[in-house]
Amino acid sequence: MGDDPIKRAAGEAARHFDAIRSVAPAGAARPIDLRRHLERAYRFEAPCSVSVVLDDVARMLGRGTVHATHPGYFGPYQGGVMRSAIAASTLVAAYDPQCALHATGAAAIELEQHALRVLARSLGWRDDDASMHTCGGGQEANVEALVVAATRACPAFREHGARAFPREPAIYVSAEAHHGIEKAAHAVGLGRASVRRIAVDDALRMDVRALEDTVARDRATCTTVAIVATAGTTSSGAIDPLEPIADLCDREGAWLHCDAAWGGAAALSPRLRDHVAGIERARSITLDGHKWLQLPLGSGMFFCREPAAVRAAFETDAPYMPRPREDALDPYRASLAWSRRAAGIPLFVALAELGEDGLAAMIDRMAELGERLRVGLAAAGFEVVHPSPLPVACFTHPRLRTGERSVGEVARAAQARGRAWISPTRLSTGAPVLRACIDNARTEPCDLDALLEDLALAMA
Ligand SMILES: *Cc1c(COP(=O)(O)O)cnc(C)c1O
Repeated sequence: MGDDPIKRAAGEAARHFDAIRSVAPAGAARPIDLRRHLERAYRFEAPCSVSVVLDDVARMLGRGTVHATHPGYFGPYQGGVMRSAIAASTLVAAYDPQCALHATGAAAIELEQHALRVLARSLGWRDDDASMHTCGGGQEANVEALVVAATRACPAFREHGARAFPREPAIYVSAEAHHGIEKAAHAVGLGRASVRRIAVDDALRMDVRALEDTVARDRATCTTVAIVATAGTTSSGAIDPLEPIADLCDREGAWLHCDAAWGGAAALSPRLRDHVAGIERARSITLDGHKWLQLPLGSGMFFCREPAAVRAAFETDAPYMPRPREDALDPYRASLAWSRRAAGIPLFVALAELGEDGLAAMIDRMAELGERLRVGLAAAGFEVVHPSPLPVACFTHPRLRTGERSVGEVARAAQARGRAWISPTRLSTGAPVLRACIDNARTEPCDLDALLEDLALAMA
């Protein structure tokens, strides 16, 4: 590989990708060991050889990472990463196109928009005038959704912030929605208390009657900023009833945001699409490429079918930026970010490699493994609770219900066998459960069998 650090890093990346099964999913290094090593080895007093440093960084990453790219990783939604997407990320790092401006990042922006339009159509938006871009992740996309929705609910919010609201701003989400929504409400200046958590039904989906009642009760005192429906909750993969929620939003004139960070991928599969029917009625949608879609972290996506509302929220003018163009919109004028990495290129390359049918097949195959997981868990004496059509299972066991064993203990014992990684969660019903999710397109039935064996041993 010689001494070229780029070739060396690329070679190491390929080696790691190919050898992933030779390591345990859970990195063994403790934070204290990593810190001691750094303090000892890196005083930064004299320059180091880049090759030596890169080798050491790779070694530390190997030991001090939970390898979500491992086929035996069944933890919360961080996908494997496709080989083509890793290669594309290397090109992005080398060219480093500035995607704030069309003038500087034309090719990267067009590549991204071309790929995002395909996803937008699969989400159900047939017209091509949606506003869409990549962003850091689902959290950032949800923040953007709140900025857009709050500006639309109260245009003076743009200049005066939350004090411009004539009544208390309110955001409605289910009890199982992602807890980043409260952080987003805080960051946007509406405050965490503006988030109203609505009760869920037996399947952990938002209870639409409870939503209707709460919105009706709040009518005299609150301004609705948004109703946020989750398509695939983070704990259990519950899909809120999108059609009835969209009907309510129509009646109320409320902004419907769909947080489909993980589960939105189901819309890209003709076989799974029905589970998220109604997603196309959302005015804005959050989707994460770095979950089910097998792209690297930093592949968040924000879609909005009201480009005027996006511009009303983010439009800006700065003397050091070029004048707006007639033929292309500069991304910094239609999103929260300013400088912007070309995060759409790994998406573009992966989509081109698979084609739409190949992408759907990949998604379907992971959903089928999810079904196999549920069947296997039941056969091994576990009880799957609140089953989802998406490839995630929350489950318990008679010995967990009696408190004889704890979910944390069982997860750790299963992980310690070095083949699989799962984690516990707690549902809004209060129940602590174990949770396993198919995140990785490289996961095989044998990886599921290993997980089930190790769980059985951990329960014994
Ligand atoms: C993962 C997730 C988020 C947060 O997305 P990040 O990419 O981690 O920022 C938000 N909502 C849901 C439903 C998620 O699953």
